[in-house]
Amino acid sequence: MPSALELARTAYRGISIYAPDRAPCAIDLSDNTSVFGVPPSALKELRTTTETTVLRYPALYAGELKAALARYVGVSPSEIVTGCGSDDVLDSAIRAFAEPGDVVATPDPSFVMIPILARMNGLTPVGVPLRADYDIDVDALLATRARIIYICSPNNPTGTLATRASIRRVLEEAPGLVILDEAYAEFSGISCITEAPRWGRLLVVRTLSKAFGLAGLRVGYAAGATALVAEVEKARGPYKVSSLAERAALSALTHDMEWVRSRIDDVVGLRVRFRAELVANGFAPLASHANFLLIPVARAEDVAAAMRRRGVAVRPMADLPGIGDAVRIGIGPWPMLQSTLDALYASVT
Ligand code: PMP
Repeated sequence: MPSALELARTAYRGISIYAPDRAPCAIDLSDNTSVFGVPPSALKELRTTTETTVLRYPALYAGELKAALARYVGVSPSEIVTGCGSDDVLDSAIRAFAEPGDVVATPDPSFVMIPILARMNGLTPVGVPLRADYDIDVDALLATRARIIYICSPNNPTGTLATRASIRRVLEEAPGLVILDEAYAEFSGISCITEAPRWGRLLVVRTLSKAFGLAGLRVGYAAGATALVAEVEKARGPYKVSSLAERAALSALTHDMEWVRSRIDDVVGLRVRFRAELVANGFAPLASHANFLLIPVARAEDVAAAMRRRGVAVRPMADLPGIGDAVRIGIGPWPMLQSTLDALYASVT
């Protein structure tokens, strides 16, 4: 009889656990979440929750939230699916539209969870290096004949955009589902979400974890044709958005949009200033359209460890195709960024 551990090893062969260093640190700019506070109405909603909200199950498929998200992005409620973070939506979409053994093609580098989610669902992830100008390599992505092509724009970790023309060609020629991950779209002001339902095969994935500052509540969503999102919802299952999360998210979408928009403006302004400081000091951060910068540095692990000892957590990235080692740093208020610059300058050798 195999032991439980042996069984587990067989089941999860080849799957790495997502486990970045999340030890507490005085300044934490390592995961691209917001450090600008929680939208005020959402916070009030959380603080005044009733017992009934906790005692009862949430809505099966977060209907009210879908309606509010549909208004926010400009599609119909039937064209929205929600989930426990966009990780959950991505996982459900992958499960819904591919069979074990199929290929999921992703740009490389891109969001590290995609190869993990692909393997969790018995699929084979294939990385396709970004072009030298950081656009996606459409021909190479299409040449994989992948059942699912994943694109992330702005891309994590580069912050760069896939051009409209490239996305369009993928949509015209891909044999299967195209996922466009727009987790950081609010910081770029560029989006394809309103076009998603018309394409039929396009699922545009979004989150309230970044621009809305609600990462701990775990609310993600996607837009696409009604028939497409219905399949994702089937693979997702019921009750994935908790009652508390739904109420707080609804509040933010209903009452806090002005607040959220001005935090986005803050981030964009600070990103420009932070990048200019880095360039003036001899660094070559990529031109980011997100709420973080990717800064090539030698021996990124060592640099991140030294910065952590100085009280600043950033995300090291090793040996990225076409880039090499780099640290990814989220955008915070200027005093945090100044401490980050000081820690970075003291940590690179
Ligand atoms: N997509 C991208 C590109 C991300 O960077 C992240 C978070 N790191 C996610 C999706 C997942 O976000 P969440 O599950 O919090 O919605």
